[in-house]
Formats: sequence, structure tokens, C-alpha cells
Amino acid sequence: MKSGTKSIDLGERRLIAMRDVQDAVTAGATSIVVAANSIVTPSARDFLQQHGIELVTDKSVAGPQQSTQHAASSAGPTALAVNRRLFTTPEAEAVKKEICSVGRKLWMRQFVDGNGGNISYRIGPNEVLCSPTLVSKYDLTPDDIGMTDLGGVQIAGAKPRTSELLLHLEIYKAVPEAKAVVHCHPPHATAYAITGRVPPNLIIPEFEVFVGKVAVSPYETPGTQAFAETVLPYVKTHNTVLLSNHGIVCWADTVTHAEWYAEVLETYCWTLMIASQLGVPISQISEKQGDDLLAIKKKLGLPDIRFDASRMKECQLSDLEVPGSIALEPTPCDGPTSRSATASDGDMESLVKSVTDAVMDAMEK
Ligand SMILES: [Zn+2]
Repeated sequence: MKSGTKSIDLGERRLIAMRDVQDAVTAGATSIVVAANSIVTPSARDFLQQHGIELVTDKSVAGPQQSTQHAASSAGPTALAVNRRLFTTPEAEAVKKEICSVGRKLWMRQFVDGNGGNISYRIGPNEVLCSPTLVSKYDLTPDDIGMTDLGGVQIAGAKPRTSELLLHLEIYKAVPEAKAVVHCHPPHATAYAITGRVPPNLIIPEFEVFVGKVAVSPYETPGTQAFAETVLPYVKTHNTVLLSNHGIVCWADTVTHAEWYAEVLETYCWTLMIASQLGVPISQISEKQGDDLLAIKKKLGLPDIRFDASRMKECQLSDLEVPGSIALEPTPCDGPTSRSATASDGDMESLVKSVTDAVMDAMEK
């Protein structure tokens, strides 16, 4: 006995994603008709295969190009080949779930607002999984996650990628150790970012080990290439950067760890603000104790500008206590790595003077 067949026509859709084929299967389809110029996402294709649903290409509505996205990809700015199969590997499926759970953490902790914030993971030399644009991080599902090449050209996924992916891509290109990037707007850390100030160091061990020195990058319009490049001078020696008048960005070996750094920074900034209301000075740990923490950090393989012996002097100076202040002017130590390795004598003199003045000022009060 032959069971009935039902064909569902999706010929009008340019992009056929997991949800479309799920709906069709729920509606009892035994075959799905698509236009020759439609893009069927790899996960949708796998789903159809697993459910024994035939995928029929209707050549009568064939467009001139098989896939404009693919054409753009091969002509894209990166010469590396793209491995589309990476989008549906067990590792990719696990990372997609991890991105969703990190998205929910960001939303639950109020680190993102509206559709703000974005998350990505470098799954191959030229392949990056990323969150889509215009979706709240609380509502992310694995089907929302797309894949692009290192040039930002989308090669898989139902939804368009976030425009702020450019920022992530600059970090991946500059820092080979960076496998995951999280960008968000946590309120207390963003309060620093909108004042252009950095928190003092040598106060809470966890912050020293996991973040340490936080840099401040200059403002540019979000989503632009100019914005993406603002972090370049900092990301090799800082895993966390305050983005002026915007938010923060963190990179790590995993998506989960990149989100941890956002938590560590946000909690640190918040704690400092609360402590500053107690009306008594915040105590710092000693430089020797700070060195012990740096040794732990080195073992963990985390970056810190203070590992650079030639910059240690200026960094130690910036660690000097400015009593009563929880928001410091960034020093060269929180600044670009492209700057000459050691500050010039003039720079160092003015740095020493400004720190001394601030200390004297606070003592007089
Ligand atoms: Zn943002």
C-alpha cells in the first residue's frame, strides 16, 4: 500500500531555513519544492534528509545565480577557502547551543538591551559562527546562529549576521588565540566606557587574574569598519576593552569564558562603585601580592600588558593608589600596544607628576 504524497512549494523563498522545513514537515510534506536560486541552509538540508523528505529544485524559477552569497564569498576579501561543512558538525551544534545559553546569561544579567550585544566563535581558520542581527540575546535559538567567513560574508544561516561582527573579525585576525568574542553593554562597565576612565588595579584578585588591565578604545560609529578597528592597538595585550561611549568587548578561548570576563569586569566596576559610597578608603593589595596573581595568570595563559618587561614600569606606576578615586585616567599602560615599548622620558615624567599630584591632592583632602 502506497501512502499519500504531499508536495509543499517554497519556490518563492530565497532562503529556506530549518524552521521553514520543520513547518513543512509538520504540515505533512513528503517533498519540498524550492527555486534553483534559493539558498537551503545546511541544517535544513540535513533535517530533510533525516526525515526522508525529497528536495525538488524547480528549474522554471531558476535565477541567474545559484547563490549570491556564495559568489560574494569566493570574491570576498579573504583568499582562504570556506568549509561550509563546519556549520553542521557536532562541534558547531554544541557551540550554537553554547552561544544561546551565553546570550541568555547576558540578558538575565542585564548586560544587553533590546537586540544589543553579539557573540561569535571562530570554528575554523576562515569560518566564524555568530549571532544574528535584531534578535534579543534571551530569545536566541541554535537555528538563529549563522556562519560567515573572516571577511564577514555570510555563508550559512537563516538570519542575517550582526553588523558588529566586523569588530569580532578584527580581533580574530589580530589575535590567533582568540576563539570566541562577546560584545555587550553591562551598565557599570559601560559607565566607565562613557567617562573614558578605567578602574584601579590591585584590589580584587579575580579581576587581576581574569581581566587585569582594561583598555579604553576610542569612539567610532558602531557597526562600521572604523569602529571594528578601534580595538586593534589593545587586543593583543588585553582580553577586555572598554569601547568609548558604547560598551565592552571580551575575547577568550571559549564563548563561555569570554562571557565570564564580561561578568568579572562588570562585577568589579559595580563593587568599586558600591565601596566608594562607604566613605572610607578602598584598600589595595601589595605589589608583591599582585606579582603572585600575575604568576597565576601567566600559568593560565591569559594576556596581560604587565607581562611585557619593557612596559612593567609604566604599568606599576598606573597601579599606584590614587586614594579615593575609583575612576582613573587611562595611562599608556591602558593604551595602545603600538606605542613605543617604553614611554619617552617626557611621558614618564608627566605620568609620575600626574600620579604624584593626584596622591598629594587626595592626601590634602
Ligand atoms: Zn554594542
